[in-house]
Parts: sequence; C-alpha cells; structure tokens
Amino acid sequence: MRMEGELQALTIRILPPEVSVLIAAGEVVERPASVVKELIENSLDAGASQVSIEVRQGGLGLIRVTDNGKGIPSDMLALAFHRYATSKVTLARDLTRITTLGFRGEALPSIAAVAEVEMLSRPADAVAGAYLRLVDGTPVEQGTRGAPVGTTVTVLHLFAKQPARRKFMRPPPAENQQIASLVSQYALAYPEVRFSLRLDARQALLTSGSGELTDAVASVYGAEVAAAMLPMRWPLDGERTTIRVSGLASPPHISRASRGYVSLFINRRWVLNRRLTFAVEEAYSGLMPAGRHPIAVVDLRLPCEEVDVNVHPTKAEVRFRQENDAFAAVQRAVRQALLEQAPVPSVPSTTGAAVTQPATPEEMTPPPLWQRAVEAEGQPQTAAGTVAPPPKVSLPMLRVVGQIGSTYIVAEGPEGMYLIDQHAAHERVLFEEICAARQRRAVDAQGLLEPAIVEVSPQQKEVILAYYEALSEHGFQLEPFGERTYLVRAIPAVLAEKDLSRAFAELLDTLSEEAAVDQQDRVAFSLACHAAVRAGQSLALEEMRELIRRLEQAEVPHTCPHGRPTMIHMSTALLEKEFRRR
Ligand code: ADP
Ligand code: MG
Repeated sequence: MRMEGELQALTIRILPPEVSVLIAAGEVVERPASVVKELIENSLDAGASQVSIEVRQGGLGLIRVTDNGKGIPSDMLALAFHRYATSKVTLARDLTRITTLGFRGEALPSIAAVAEVEMLSRPADAVAGAYLRLVDGTPVEQGTRGAPVGTTVTVLHLFAKQPARRKFMRPPPAENQQIASLVSQYALAYPEVRFSLRLDARQALLTSGSGELTDAVASVYGAEVAAAMLPMRWPLDGERTTIRVSGLASPPHISRASRGYVSLFINRRWVLNRRLTFAVEEAYSGLMPAGRHPIAVVDLRLPCEEVDVNVHPTKAEVRFRQENDAFAAVQRAVRQALLEQAPVPSVPSTTGAAVTQPATPEEMTPPPLWQRAVEAEGQPQTAAGTVAPPPKVSLPMLRVVGQIGSTYIVAEGPEGMYLIDQHAAHERVLFEEICAARQRRAVDAQGLLEPAIVEVSPQQKEVILAYYEALSEHGFQLEPFGERTYLVRAIPAVLAEKDLSRAFAELLDTLSEEAAVDQQDRVAFSLACHAAVRAGQSLALEEMRELIRRLEQAEVPHTCPHGRPTMIHMSTALLEKEFRRR
C-alpha cells in the first residue's frame, strides 16, 4: 500500500534470463500439444522421413519425439537450449523469406524452462549419440550413448513446477485429443513422412509416409472418406498467378458438424486462418446444408515474401500481403474441384425438362429441397465469383395423410405432396432440440431410481474417458465402478424409453467411429440417431402430426444432421404432368 506523500521512485531493470525465458515459455508452451508441435516442427526442419511421438498421461507424464533427421553435432547440443539459438536464421533479412517451420530459437529453451528434458542426437557422420539432460533449463548430465542417426527429445514432468499452468490442463483424454488432432494436421501436411503417435499404450495414428495425400487422409479420416475426396488445383491452365493451390476436398455429401476438418497449409506450414477456412466453406455454398462443414486439405504455396509467418510465438498465424488473392485462389480451387467431379443436378422442371443424367446411383437421390429452391432462384454470383449462401427455406404447414411401409410419412402441403423419412426427420428434430437445450444449459436429464450397472469394452471405456465432459453435458451421470464397469445414475431424457445398456453401448460405438473434433456435436448426433424412431416402426396419426409439427420448427428441416434429405417433394405441377392432366 502506498501512503500519502511517500511516492516511491520505480526501478526499471532487465529481467534475468531465467525469468524472461519463463515468460517466453508461457507463450510458446501453452499446453502439452504445444510441446508436441514444436518438437515435430524441429524434426521436420531436420529433414526427417520418420517421426514417432509417444505421449503418456496426456503429455504431463512424458512426451517423446524421435526422428531420423540430420541430428545435432555433439558440441552444439547444449547451445540448442539457449534462448534465440537457432541454425535456421542468421540475418534480419532472412526473416522475410523463411522456409523452415522454426526460426525463433525459442522452443527448446522454453520447453526446458517448464519441464525436465533429455536430448539424444546423432548426426550421420558421428559414431555415437550425444546425450544431454536438463533440469530447470540447466544441463545436469552430458555424455555419449549409442543411438541411431537422428534425434530423440524426451520431455518429463511438464509444468510440474508451474502449478498454476497445471491447473488449467484438462484431463488426459482431452489433452490426448488435442495432441491427436495436432499430429493429424502434420500427417496431412507431410504425406511423405511416416508419423506414428502412441498415446499411453495405444497406437493412435500411423501413416505410411508414401507421399500420397490420399494415404495420409485415409490414416486420419478413414479409407471411405479418402476414396471419395476430390482433387483440387489452381491455377487452371492459362491463369497467371504466383499462387498455387492443391489438395483434396470432400464431395458435398460428405460433411461434418464442425469446421475442424478444414486443414490449411501455407508453404507447408499448418496455419489457422478464419478467412481461408471461410473461403473453403464458401465454395460449398448451395451444395451443402447449413450447419454442415466440409473436410478439406488445402496446400497453398506462394512466394515466401508474400507471407509473414513471424506474427505470433506459436507461428500458427500468418499475414498475407495480398490476402484477397489467396482467398480467391482457395475458393476457386475448391469450387472447381466440386463442379468438375459432381455437377450440380439441375432442378426437375415442372414443364418436363430432363434432369442432368446422374452418374452414380448415389446421385440418383433428388437434390434436397433446399437446394432445388436455391437452384430455382438461380445462383446469384457476387463480384468475387462466389455463390451467395442458400436462403433459409422453411417448411410450409403440412397435413399428415398417412404412413407408407411403416417408414415414410405422407403429407400434403400447399405445393403438393411430401414424402418424409420418419427416422431422418426425427433425427433432425432431436439433434436441434438437443443442441438448443445444451446451449441453454437446460438439458433434460432423467435420474434413475436404481442406478444401472453397465459393462463396457476397453474401446468403449476410452470413448467414455474422452467424451466424459460432453456426455455429462448431455445428461449422462456416470460413475466408474470397477475396471470396466460404470454406474449410470442419470441419462438424457430422450433415451428414457430405450433399452439402456444397448442404447448406451451403441451410442459409444457411434461416438468412436468418427475422428475426434467437436465432441459435443458428435454426442448430440449420436443421441439423436439412437433416440429417433426407426424405419419400420408404425406410428399413430397423432405421433406423425407431432413429428411434423416439430420438423416445421427446425432450422434446417430438409436434411438430417448427416446431410441426407428428410423428405421428397412432388409438386402439384409434377403430379399433373405425370398424370397427363396438362
Ligand atoms: P528453432 O527451431 O526456432 O531454430 P528450437 O529451439 O526449436 O529453435 O531449436 C534450436 C535448434 O536446435 C534448431 O535451430 C536446430 O538447429 C536444433 N534442433 C532442434 N531439434 C532438432 C532435431 N530434432 N533435429 C536436428 N536439429 C534440431
Ligand atoms: Mg523449433
């Protein structure tokens, strides 16, 4: 406290290095995934063709990255841990043309400031590896050890001496997911590098290093997605530009509930950039239902003086000299890929013009109503050549007429007949209701008088650990009860009528099927899917009316959460034409 009349002169002093390095560490090493990122980048800069990552206890126990890169000469090992020590930049003007992932010389000292670090490295021309161990950033042990060519960095007890930082860590499964998602990005950016990620005892990711982007996509998102992905390229012949875009984009029928599936690489650096992500999304406008997002891997190359990568200590952001050009190139590359491979089916005109010949049985399904509505209005082109987003198409009031095959609801509206898939429609309704309740923090949970005991498989247990928070936010109250058994004390009300242990097991399996991004949506998806009425279930008129009423309230009534149509519309005009009344 300052007393009246006692103004103290302040003293300005330069912080001692052990303090300044901690401040820098705070920016560079925010969480375990940041350590993994910096170490992978060092391995890639060292020209490694194999990078293995081992993580224990969400990274707080151990992080070890092993590469077969060029190694560090023994006399420079300790130097690498000095702040601003780097082999990648010498002159200020080098900063304007950075071709390596690292350049700040901050990562190793920052990591060593907040963990115990061991480094073992052997260049190809050395007979053995040089070993160095640091505690609190200070070397405590140095020596020679047998080692293969390359570098292994082991990080132990991360943040053990930073209790404040440690407190902000999420439970290991959540940190594991961050790490898995991060390594996936590098696997996609460097298909020629063989990546292996082990989380505790599990092999979480393994790529072939074949050099084919499709193979990397298959390792990360699965073979089915990889096979469906469309190649993109820019410029097309004749276009004069210094920007090159290549990569893969999902066809519109493959979509996800979150934006986390758009990966952007600029000159092989993984970056986060909202505008470019938006450019990718915009290329899908009119092709993908609102609320759905594509999977894409965008490899953007441009002269290095056109981008500034020295924006932030984590190097995850970049600035462009000509951002609009980059935006347009990405948007066109994706749009072109979509149009080449999957022409937008034209509207079945009421006057009888033919529909574009569909190429595959899959495309035989009519375009969703929202799409036809957009098509019918024509696609307004904006100045940049982009397509305006589809207007929100709400459902007219529908009158339920009956049910077909215990699967489809027949309804009449002002525009003719609607055939509604009861499962898809119910899924859409539940999905939106569940998300809305979660956002209002008003999830309807139902306590069980007798807690149910459910046994789970090892894989299902991982899913529970990974999704624990998201599951509780949706109304599950779970308590570990033995090695692989849980006590279920409460469940989301939507599952109330279901056979609990079966519904729960199915839910966990659905959750584990997709790669991990946006957990909450995935839980909502799975819940909606398992709680929705099945095809083949006969419904009373009143139940159908109730379902249609709720569908009318939905924001995106025409597609189910997976993007499939919930209904087919036969207009009055079409009926008249088919019956040759006109
Ligand atoms: P930066 O990557 O910004 O140069 P770092 O602190 O991450 O700074 O690394 C310091 C230096 O240590 C690097 O410039 C590089 O010469 C060397 N180095 C670090 N990791 C490796 C590795 N896995 N293989 C070879 N050299 C490495
Ligand atoms: Mg580095």
